[in-house]
Amino acid sequence: MLLRHWIFVLVLVLMAATATAGEIHQAIEAGDLSRVQALVRADAGVITQPDDNRDRSLPLHTAAIAGQLEIMEYLIAQGAVVDGHDKDQSTPLMVACFRGKVEAAKLLIQRGAGVDQVDLNGATPVSFAMHSGNMEVIQLLLEAGIDFATQGPNNGTYMNLAAAGGNLEIMELLFSSGVPVDTANDTGTTPLISAAGLGQTEAVRWLLAKGADAGHVDSNGMSAMSLCAFRGNGASAELLVQAGAELNQKDNWGRTPLLSSFQGGNDEVATVLLKAGADPDLATELGQTPLIKATERGDLAGVEALLAAGAKVDPVETPQGRQALHIAAARGYGDVTAALVKAGAPLNCVDKAGAAPIMLARDHGNYKITKALAKAGSGSAKTINECELAGTTKKCGEKCPGALSAAKAPAKGDARVWYLGHSSMAVQTHNNLLVFDYFENGRTADSPCLANGNICPKELADQKVTVFASHVHGDHYDPVIFEWSEQVKDITYVLGFEPDDENVPAHESIGARESKTFGEVKVHTIASNDSGVGFMVEVDGVTIFHAGDHANRQRDLSGSYCPEIDYLVAAGYHPDLTMLPTTGCNFGDPVAVRIGIDYTLEKFGPTTFFPMHAGTNPARYVEVWDEVGPKHTQVEVVLPRDSGDWFNFKAKEEHAMH
Ligand SMILES: [Zn+2]
Ligand SMILES: [Zn+2]
Repeated sequence: MLLRHWIFVLVLVLMAATATAGEIHQAIEAGDLSRVQALVRADAGVITQPDDNRDRSLPLHTAAIAGQLEIMEYLIAQGAVVDGHDKDQSTPLMVACFRGKVEAAKLLIQRGAGVDQVDLNGATPVSFAMHSGNMEVIQLLLEAGIDFATQGPNNGTYMNLAAAGGNLEIMELLFSSGVPVDTANDTGTTPLISAAGLGQTEAVRWLLAKGADAGHVDSNGMSAMSLCAFRGNGASAELLVQAGAELNQKDNWGRTPLLSSFQGGNDEVATVLLKAGADPDLATELGQTPLIKATERGDLAGVEALLAAGAKVDPVETPQGRQALHIAAARGYGDVTAALVKAGAPLNCVDKAGAAPIMLARDHGNYKITKALAKAGSGSAKTINECELAGTTKKCGEKCPGALSAAKAPAKGDARVWYLGHSSMAVQTHNNLLVFDYFENGRTADSPCLANGNICPKELADQKVTVFASHVHGDHYDPVIFEWSEQVKDITYVLGFEPDDENVPAHESIGARESKTFGEVKVHTIASNDSGVGFMVEVDGVTIFHAGDHANRQRDLSGSYCPEIDYLVAAGYHPDLTMLPTTGCNFGDPVAVRIGIDYTLEKFGPTTFFPMHAGTNPARYVEVWDEVGPKHTQVEVVLPRDSGDWFNFKAKEEHAMH
């Protein structure tokens, strides 16, 4: 009773306070000093009352935004904190800088406002001023004695920030105040690297003219040209070539700029690099060449440009013994296959698993490619026969051994799993079909089907389908999934986040550490330390764990990784199928990621392990398992070679990998 009474009083007090707070903000905006004075006299507390309708701004923020100098003076005299915080911990000086309120900023600095404060988003008064582009405010801050050469938001430098925004006026101002052009941040990124990586051509031109070092590399071994290759533009690349930038320099992953340009799908920069004489054949340690990268993306123009520049059509092999033709045939890119065949790619070259390109085309439901390769003279009489048979139908990979229709639905407790690339998996159980974290990574196969790692809704039309997306990142959530509902009548979407877009069709959302049941599918989640959730799913007698992007970050296993795994173990889960991210630069230390895999496999006990999150390069899974595997002889591992590889999980009998 007493407690309830106090809560009631508290609510009344809060309501009263909020009303007054809103009122003072209105009076400030109206420039009504006498009203502000009256409100403060009635209740001095209003000076520190945030307004929920204004990002929890304090009255001094509101006065700074409105440029009400007299009111600002009054509020400060009455005890307002000069560096008070709004909901982002931005100060009045920051918001004044953002709105370009020079006089307000000047007043705040005079009254002792911190010019080097940092808010929750890593922004500073200077970065707010740069955003506004108001040169007077920037000049004011420059005079306030900030070290522009070494400081900056989010571990950057201000010269970097200006270069990334392509703001020459600010760069000029900083330069004339003595800031060197090559100020690097703590990961070695220079303004030239920032500008080149973001296609800020004029900033690149300005920096090079001022003598910026085109040869500088950051802590990832990446130069301005390497970054330009990913997301920059051709004009910036031209300028770097003219400045004598090294064309064939490898980054810490062994990638040349040319290879990176094909990885990033940046044909514009690739063209500049090829014209300037970049070596078209330099490979990473995993045997990845520019031609392999272009083929992986189904980039016909890129493949043709490389071949015209003299790239070897049968270059160094990948650790799996793959050449470009294997990849084109497996992924189902007919035109790329044809270009490679025309250029003399060896038709019958077998990979380390004994597969020739024609066999990969057949196994992955690429019927037209199978036929074309047979016509070009590939394969033994028997393979050609089999392939001709596979090539007799056009229906979503039908008659291809990896098609959904090629086998009966699994018995209770059994499952059939398709690797759909990166972190995307399809799992067929006795009565259900689940799809996890599907996204279209570049070009889809000419004839999309599960067997080539794509979803063709027609193939799933008769299934009871549950589609999961663990988190909002683009490599885990692709709104294309909602298009399937036109053809798949029984479909449920389970999202580990609430999408921003209001137009997202009907779906179920599930939060972290929640348990919900959707039809026959029981779902229990964990909080991913990346974003969104990881899913523990029980259906038709099979338990599946898909971790989303939950990956360990610390070698000593500190942090929020292990508690989530422990939470599942404490709840009694020992999944039959365990799908964990194994690689990806956003996870930080790769050694820590592997230590985390080791931990989870140990805790989950005997399980079947599917490594995931290797982008377009499944060869990485072999690397990871070479290190983690020896400690886990009880674990059955599935190491896919291509998108569309499938695996039969048998609850009791022996398992079979295809
Ligand atoms: Zn991811
Ligand atoms: Zn992510």
